[in-house]
Amino acid sequence: MNGQVFRPDCPEALWPLLEAGARPMAGGTDLLVRLRRQPPCDVALLEGIPGLDGVGLADGQLRLGATATHARLLAHPLVRERLPALARALAVLGSPLVRNMGTLGGNIATASPAGDTLPPLYALEATVELASRRGTRRLPLADFILGPGCTALARGEIVTAVLVPPPPPDALQHFEKVGRRDALAVAVASLAAVIVRDEAGQVTEARLAVGSLGPTVTRCPQAEAYLLGRGLDRETLATVGRRIREAVSPIDDIRATAAYRLRLAGNLPLRLLRP
Ligand SMILES: Cc1cc2nc3c(=O)[nH]c(=O)nc-3n(C[C@H](O)[C@H](O)[C@H](O)COP(=O)(O)OP(=O)(O)OC[C@H]3O[C@@H](n4cnc5c(N)ncnc54)[C@H](O)[C@@H]3O)c2cc1C
Repeated sequence: MNGQVFRPDCPEALWPLLEAGARPMAGGTDLLVRLRRQPPCDVALLEGIPGLDGVGLADGQLRLGATATHARLLAHPLVRERLPALARALAVLGSPLVRNMGTLGGNIATASPAGDTLPPLYALEATVELASRRGTRRLPLADFILGPGCTALARGEIVTAVLVPPPPPDALQHFEKVGRRDALAVAVASLAAVIVRDEAGQVTEARLAVGSLGPTVTRCPQAEAYLLGRGLDRETLATVGRRIREAVSPIDDIRATAAYRLRLAGNLPLRLLRP
């Protein structure tokens, strides 16, 4: 490991590099920052591997290539029209420079509790596709992320795509993050929601996921269960906020206190009232 950079042009050239300990690199917006504080290591660029950045529909699911940049995904009609909660998260991730370089696979593999694409992808019940010399496998995103900065990625394996079953077209999709400022801010707290309602406006399916309120992004099953059969009125959403608050375990850090985060956790669902 002497800090060499490799640019394999096919998976067969990538596998031995990863097996020998080279780190995969996509946009480098996370990895290069981290490497400044670590001993040199070999890096294998993913940009030369064909087919990793495609976006399309396959078997009724949206297939988002791991090396698709945030900017590319944000501009894609399938993402904008079918996954507006993810589009909203991409729109507020970092800055234009970061969105032009950073990728979906990199955001997931970083496994930060503040990763902006994660709450919408949890609420959308996304699956992660992984590949190595041994073949491919798929894991629900929630099983792929094991802890802060920790994933189920095995040595020699990469994320190749994220698969998302699109919700019904009339489902409410929502994402909001609160940071210390509006632009280029890491989330102090975030909420993503996918909510399906019947003709009377009663909730028939609810999926809520919060970011920056615990060691990983997490779903909120008690709050989701409470929403079933109810309308999205202020009183209901205030109770949803209380249920989320009871379920999360935020910490104090340089961006906010745990007490402030808890307050946000209770208030964020009220934003669902906004048209
Ligand atoms: C100024 C700045 C602002 C930022 N703001 C935000 C923000 O607001 N919200 C946010 O969520 N993030 C933010 N980030 C973090 C970062 O930009 C994102 O997490 C980005 O999506 C990382 O993608 P990348 O392609 O650059 O990853 P890389 O830096 O290339 O890789 C990150 C990690 O993932 C691994 N990796 C990358 N691709 C793969 C793959 N396909 N398979 C397996 N492992 C892989 C790498 O080995 C590394 O461990 C910011 C970063 C900077 C520098």
